Formats: sequence, C-alpha cells, structure tokens
Amino acid sequence: MGQGGSTVSAQPFDVKAAVDAYLAKVPPQQRARGDAYFEGGYWLLLWDFLSTVLVMWMLLRFLWSARMRDLAERITRFKPLQAALYWVQFVVLVSIITFPLTVYEGFFREHKYDLSNQTFAAWMRDQAIGLAVGAVLGALLLAVLFGLVRRLGKNWWVWGAVVSVVFIAFVALIAPVFIFPLFNKFTKLEDPRIKDPILSLARANGIPATEVYEFDASRQSNRVSANVSGFAGTTRISLNDNLLKRCTLPEIESTMGHEMGHYVLNHQFKGLVLNGVLVVIAFAFLNWGVNASLARWGESWGIRGMTDVAVVPLAVLLLSVFFFVLTPVSNTITRTMEYEADIFGINASQQPDGEAEVDLKLGEYRKLDPGPVEEFIFFDHPSGRTRITAAMRWKAEHPAASPASGR
Ligand SMILES: [Zn+2]
Repeated sequence: MGQGGSTVSAQPFDVKAAVDAYLAKVPPQQRARGDAYFEGGYWLLLWDFLSTVLVMWMLLRFLWSARMRDLAERITRFKPLQAALYWVQFVVLVSIITFPLTVYEGFFREHKYDLSNQTFAAWMRDQAIGLAVGAVLGALLLAVLFGLVRRLGKNWWVWGAVVSVVFIAFVALIAPVFIFPLFNKFTKLEDPRIKDPILSLARANGIPATEVYEFDASRQSNRVSANVSGFAGTTRISLNDNLLKRCTLPEIESTMGHEMGHYVLNHQFKGLVLNGVLVVIAFAFLNWGVNASLARWGESWGIRGMTDVAVVPLAVLLLSVFFFVLTPVSNTITRTMEYEADIFGINASQQPDGEAEVDLKLGEYRKLDPGPVEEFIFFDHPSGRTRITAAMRWKAEHPAASPASGR
C-alpha cells in the first residue's frame, strides 16, 4: 500500500479489494489466534454471568448475606456505616469465591495468548488495588442508596437511578487523576517528533491541551491504546508506550484523531445519557424483582425487607440478569460512538492507511472479520473489516490526499 503521492490514478479505487488486501496481510495462524481469543470471550460472558448468579444465590440461600449484615450491625448502629461494612465483607468474600475464574480469565488466559506482560505478583497487586478501589467506591454508593430506600420508600428506585448515574459521572471525572495513576505511571511526552504533530492535531480540532502524556501500559500488556480525558481546565491527551513503540507516526496520528473524536463529539456525556436510560430501566426492574423475590423467599434468606443491606446479592443477581440480556444494546451504544470517532479520526488525521494498520494490530485480540449478527451482539468496537472499510472508503473519496501534500 503506497501513499499514492499526488497522482490521481486512472482506475477507480476499489474499496473492497483494498480492505481484503489489508486483511490478507495478517498470517492465517495469527488470525486464527486472535479470533480464538475473542470468540473465547463470548463464552466467558456466559460463564461470568452464570458464576455471578450461582454465587449470589449461595450468599442468599446459605444465609451468608444475612450473617454479614448481622456482623455489620454488631459493629455499629450507624446505618450508612453498616451498609459500608456490609459491602466490604461482600466484595472480599465474592472475590475469594470467584478467584479461580478471575485468575484464569485475567492471568492464565492472557498469558496463553501472549497478551500479558505481567508476573503473577504484579497481576495480584493490580487485583488488590482494584479490589480496594471497588470497596471504597461501592461502600460510598451503597450507603447513599440505602439512605434513599429508607427515606423514599416505594419510589426509591427513580432517585436511586439518578444517584447512580451521577456517581458514574463522578467516577469518570476523578478516574484520570485519582484511579488510573494507581495502575500506571504517567509522564510528559518529550519527543517533539511525536508531541508536535499530536498537539497540532489537537489545536486544529479545538482541544485545549498543551502537553501530551505517556503511560506505561506495557507493564500490563502489549495492547496499543490512548485517550483524551478531563474537562475544561484538565484536558489531558494520553497515549500508551505500546502505541509509541509499535506504531508509525501516521498510525499514531490516526489513533489520536480517533481519541480526539471522542472528546470533540462529546461522547462521555452522550454515553452517560444513553447508558443512563438503561440504568433507569434497570432500577425499575430491580425494584420489581426485589419485591417479588422477597415476598417469596425473603424469610428463608433472612432478609427483613428492601431496607436491609442483606438484600445486596439479590440486587446484584437481578442486575446481572438485566445487563446480560441487554449486552447487545450496551455494546451497540458503545460501538456506534466508536465508529463515529473512527470517522472523525480519519477526517482529522487524513491517515486512512495508518488507521488500517492500527486496526490490524487490534486483531491480536479482536476478531477482524466477523459476521454482521456476531458484530452486533458481541462487539463494543467496530470489527477490523468495518473500520478498514471506513478508512478505505475515505481514501477512495480523497484521491489526492496524502500526508505530504495535505489538501
Ligand atoms: Zn474509541
């Protein structure tokens, strides 16, 4: 694939042939490996769901949940603290029970497919940090939610949904500054050969950034990734060291164009609104499901009612049923925005071939050429074929465009 210079070829550019040529660059063995990894993920979706249902049922049926509540009540009479203490016991116990699946999924399987660079100790450290973050954030949310249940009674779920959405927004806001640095080190990117074109791309698209940050994702894996995060004063462009090590400048520019697309197209906010609708429906379902289940089994599970924190496993069970069934919906919400960011990125960077090359690299862990139904159900990003098609279509419509000649 040459860059074409400024010559306009006599024959029309064949988009499908160009896409097929790109996909054919991946050796069959490598392709099979990426496909196997990704398709294995379909099954993990099911196993994760079933294991959650089973563990939550055990917590209810064998009264472990009721006992954790009793312990929390013995320690303090202050209701919000009881909810927090219950939650800490809950996440620790559930993490222990589901550890075999977690370690297979997050460590052994990743190593089997050469996607992880971590030693077991380093992986465990990340798990422990994740557990601590989940314990603190979940304790906060739960203390507030049970406060709503106690004060609002029957209509708690409407405000519960609102509070949860605000909470998700809050976590998204603080994550780049307070959570991501727990897992990775962020440093200022100094190399002007990379930094200058990225900042130029940012200025051209109205992104107020004066620095580019690099983070050491290679601690965890070889995956290439980047992001543009933050608000008004804290806008921050970050790219990972794998992207810097493994990609050419056109590939980096197309990737950063994509990330800037998320920012300019306001995807964080749109995602919050669209997922917020799902959260409201989820809470309505939750309210109905908890009432119906408690009427039937509440006594045998030792749960006194909706205001009792021992109800948490039931809530988690119901929510996981809801979001498992709605997997294609939430994937489509995300995938649609990812596709928008692709289109934005190609227009901004004018690097369709860079885009195609990066898409092939993502084939290491995402199936490149799935069927349309498969893509609809399981893909939270467009497939390699979809993305390369968008890039080649752009190229076909811009016969004179090349990185050197501009427009
Ligand atoms: Zn994206």
